[in-house]
Amino acid sequence: MPMNKLQFQRGLSMAEFLEQYGSEEGCETALTLWRWPQGFACPLCGGPSSSSFRRGSRRLWQCARCRHQSSVTSGTVFESTKLPLTSWFLAMHLLTQSKNNVSALELGRHLGVTYKTAWLLKHKVMEVMRLREDSRQLNGRVEIDDAYLGGERFGGKPGRGSENKIPFVAAVQTSADGQPVLACFAPIPFTKEALEKFAAKSLVLPLTLVSDGLGCFKAATAGAVHERIVTGGGKASVKLPQFSAVNTVLSNLKTALSGTYHAFDFAKYAHRYLAEAQYRFNRRFDLRSILRRLLCAAAQTPPCPACAIRAAEACA
Ligand SMILES: [Zn+2]
Repeated sequence: MPMNKLQFQRGLSMAEFLEQYGSEEGCETALTLWRWPQGFACPLCGGPSSSSFRRGSRRLWQCARCRHQSSVTSGTVFESTKLPLTSWFLAMHLLTQSKNNVSALELGRHLGVTYKTAWLLKHKVMEVMRLREDSRQLNGRVEIDDAYLGGERFGGKPGRGSENKIPFVAAVQTSADGQPVLACFAPIPFTKEALEKFAAKSLVLPLTLVSDGLGCFKAATAGAVHERIVTGGGKASVKLPQFSAVNTVLSNLKTALSGTYHAFDFAKYAHRYLAEAQYRFNRRFDLRSILRRLLCAAAQTPPCPACAIRAAEACA
């Protein structure tokens, strides 16, 4: 799809969003269908029959077999939330429809909640995105390059090996005419071991790997055709047509991330910020369905408690 069609495609308008998900009841009904697409199944015993009733604002289902009571949010990423579902849905709408990233601070203002609440909500949504993208695999012609997150904010030296930067690998699958199609961003060091692991997980044959020949990329080439482009690094490589897709993607990523996040968050939660960017990038052609797909995934994602969210490593 040409760039202009991508930019001018119709998304889900705020009016349409509010019509579908503007009420707690509307959100609950939608979530129930995504949580139990085959009809109710007791989270404890799997029993298919239930009676349902309301307690406060939430509907509860009582299993006819074991009498266990559950709500549509229990056992999902929404579990034990104090926020109404309308806030979750609105957060996910804003996080998927905005052109650039929405910070926790901005999200908090939109939702009328504290920064702390918005931060946790955003990270839980990003974790859903990360889990969805975890099995992403690229093939065909793939441009691969190394990059850094957050370096400039620390006043670090430019280039590879600088202090206080989070290294990551960007791999971009292109179409026959060199347009970026899909991307993988992995917060890994540029070592042979890490790249071998990345390649085994995220790259599949047939594969033509285009890299700048940084020694450790050789590790990622078993069975693949390797187009080694020697660039000498720095600004020169930005202009090479062989890297046009990965450079465009990296440049857009930088624009989207710069100024949105705190440097501390970059360092600790790079895996999640990169996954969010990857999730949005890989679904950019269909802005109208991205929210529904994310909500559907969230309804199937197990709880991710705050302590796991705050752990530096991935919480899976
Ligand atoms: Zn049961």
